[in-house]
Amino acid sequence: MKLSELKRGEKGIITKVLGRGAFRRRIIEMGFIKGKEVEVITEAPLKDPTEYKLMDYEVSLRKSEAELIEIITLEEANLQLPETENRPLVLNEEALQSLADEQSKIIRVALVGNPNSGKTSLFNAASGTHERVGNYSGVTVDAKKMKFKYKGYAFHLMDLPGTYSLSAYSPEELYVRKQIVEGTPDVIINVMPASNLERNLYLTTQLIDMDAITVIALNMYDELEKSGATFDHQRFAEMIGYPIVPTVAKSGRGIPELFDQVIEVYERRSPVARHIHINYGEEIETGIDHVKKQLREEKQIGLDTSLRYLSILLLEGDPVAEKTVAKFPSAKKILNERDIHAQYIRDDFREDVETAFADARYGFIDGALKQTYKEGKRDTLKITHWIDRVVTDRFWGYPIFFLFMFLMFECTFMLGKYPTQWIESLVRFCSRLLDVHLNSGPFRDLLIDGIIGGVGSVIVFLPNIVILYLFISFMEDTGYMARAAFIMDKFMQKMGLHGKSFIPLIMGFGCNVPAIMSTRIIESRNTRIITILVNSLMSCSARLPVYILFVGTFFPKQEGLVLFGLYLTGIGLAVGMSRLFKKFLVRGEDLPFVMELPPYRLPTWKAMSRHIWDRSSQYLKKMGGIILIASIVVWFLEYYPQNAERNQYYENQITAVMNDSRLMPEESHRLISDLNKQHKEEQKENSYIGKIGQTIEPLMRPLGFDWKLGASLVSGMAAKEIIVSTLGILYTGDDEDTGSLKQHLQNERYLDGSVVYSPWVAGSFLLFVLIYFPCLATVAAIKNETRSWKWALFSVLYTTALAWLVAFGVYRIGTTLL
Ligand code: GDP
Ligand code: MG
Repeated sequence: MKLSELKRGEKGIITKVLGRGAFRRRIIEMGFIKGKEVEVITEAPLKDPTEYKLMDYEVSLRKSEAELIEIITLEEANLQLPETENRPLVLNEEALQSLADEQSKIIRVALVGNPNSGKTSLFNAASGTHERVGNYSGVTVDAKKMKFKYKGYAFHLMDLPGTYSLSAYSPEELYVRKQIVEGTPDVIINVMPASNLERNLYLTTQLIDMDAITVIALNMYDELEKSGATFDHQRFAEMIGYPIVPTVAKSGRGIPELFDQVIEVYERRSPVARHIHINYGEEIETGIDHVKKQLREEKQIGLDTSLRYLSILLLEGDPVAEKTVAKFPSAKKILNERDIHAQYIRDDFREDVETAFADARYGFIDGALKQTYKEGKRDTLKITHWIDRVVTDRFWGYPIFFLFMFLMFECTFMLGKYPTQWIESLVRFCSRLLDVHLNSGPFRDLLIDGIIGGVGSVIVFLPNIVILYLFISFMEDTGYMARAAFIMDKFMQKMGLHGKSFIPLIMGFGCNVPAIMSTRIIESRNTRIITILVNSLMSCSARLPVYILFVGTFFPKQEGLVLFGLYLTGIGLAVGMSRLFKKFLVRGEDLPFVMELPPYRLPTWKAMSRHIWDRSSQYLKKMGGIILIASIVVWFLEYYPQNAERNQYYENQITAVMNDSRLMPEESHRLISDLNKQHKEEQKENSYIGKIGQTIEPLMRPLGFDWKLGASLVSGMAAKEIIVSTLGILYTGDDEDTGSLKQHLQNERYLDGSVVYSPWVAGSFLLFVLIYFPCLATVAAIKNETRSWKWALFSVLYTTALAWLVAFGVYRIGTTLL
């Protein structure tokens, strides 16, 4: 527990002193060292400050200070000790001491670094777990935690989202900063790719300002070695006061040494670790000193706050720091002093204060690197540059990109066809098997039509989805995705978005849920909201089954083209809508845009197959859960209510035909089949889902949809795959021929004999499916990310309205003109 929670007269043993800098020094000087016993003597009326007894003398601490001291009490120790044979009945001092010792051997470590620096790889290497890694920013959206033991210490490791800086711009930056300041990790591991020191060190300068206790993992050391560059990292470490350990997170090289160093730093034994000040130059330093002086006079600020860091934040205009300070009694004086000096800095540099600070930081970095770093021949970079020159070319970049996209969709469709056919026949085989071996009745119908029919018609699309993910993973892992974002930046700006919006949008082709989560990398809230709102127009893979079914059935000659056209339509609508939103819904200025270009890497098969497996298994899980349940529900809605009279009537009719000796065998066969069809048709029309479909039919009629399509759209609100399984259930009821759903669709007639599905109906249906209602999971994600139901509801309404209008337009124009 914390020392601040200890009550009057109680005792505890110190296990850990958190905090840093002057505070830590003073606290330790006073005798607050781990292993020592403290006792509460008196509490002030408001418990602040409290008087403690420590090594026979008395000291007083503020609550905020006592919060940074961790202790263990006898009671706690009694609760924690396992009931073993050699557990003493009453804990003696000695046992308590040893338990306190154990507690002090817990080291909380946070991984901090730029996106793509290898934090997650390092986390995996240290723990043997498999978090997702990817070669672009924004894969890790929230903290992952794990524990492991090493050399008698228990490490609590936390993987934080990647950030370029710790300013309070994006929620990620704020989150990481909060974790460092309030989560008080004992040691921070600053993961730094050796291939791009300069930019990555920016974050390090901020850690130095914060006086964070840090070890640098000089990751991707293999690439540095390969490039022939030399980096005297020991000297560099001494200069900045942070120990540096070369690592290769991908292979696990250097990881033990890294944690050895973490222990050294934690135990304050490292000769390298020290707190330095970055010299910001005379003007800025003067400003810092003056603001610091004002802060020092403020009685409400405890020793646990670094005044230098707070002054820097205030001068930079950090909104969070300002908010904190605004609560102090002398806030006016402090902020006034800040304003005066910020103005001085602006005048001197003819630039805003933040830029002045950033320039000074880069100056510090350049200086430190110039003395320790020598560029090599930079083979990887040369190749990177060479490739970059082509793929990000102002002219060639676009055709290459679109070719790649077209290839992706074409392959998804063409190559996926073969395994799809195998799965299809397997599904057919299963239902025949059950058909033969089970007695007829609702149970058999549920199994065959509901479960196998429903889930089966979705599972056949697994190969297509695997291929699509193969392409997406490849683009991510090689680094091409970042280039795509780069060349799309101009275009994105025209949409009112950022280049950074591009990755969430592309990810949307896989699944909108993680895509919406990945919008957290976008600094500006307005841009983030627009990116979220248009994301569901990026056609996710759940819609693919519907497309493949309808495109394959009605446009067999132009499969690839129509499919590509659908995706393009989605993109086009996203462009239009985001421009509209930008203009009318969320107006505001943009933050300047930075886009990094990580060097190209050949993805490993291991990593790629893991990505593909992760995503495909998600798809399968979804099928096991939501789609199975929905299939059963939909089957139920379609099967009931049964009408005994009607069943009897058709049975009698069929018996009459069979007994009619005047009919030829073929003729009677045909009559029976027609009767069966008619029976099913009537049954479905009067079922619950028929009722729902018919209720909304007036709304669907103008789009050319019959009630079955309407009903499948309703069921597809849960998840779009369900559209196919619903249609499967509604159609495979015609049990006379076990032809696939495709044939059923083609042969479907209205009672008057006209075809239900003209290509125009199919087209307008495809568009409707593309645009309408983001699935339930996506709506939940929108609510989470925007923290408001308003946006979630808005996305539901606007997409459905838009879907209706587009489908209406296409159907009307198609049927009247052609
Ligand atoms: P994060 O964004 O910081 O979590 O970075 P990731 O762990 O996702 O890694 C980004 C990319 O760098 C992945 O493609 C990794 O395979 C790759 N990577 C990570 N560590 C190393 C390393 O030490 N050497 C090399 N060559 N690549 C690495
Ligand atoms: Mg990560």
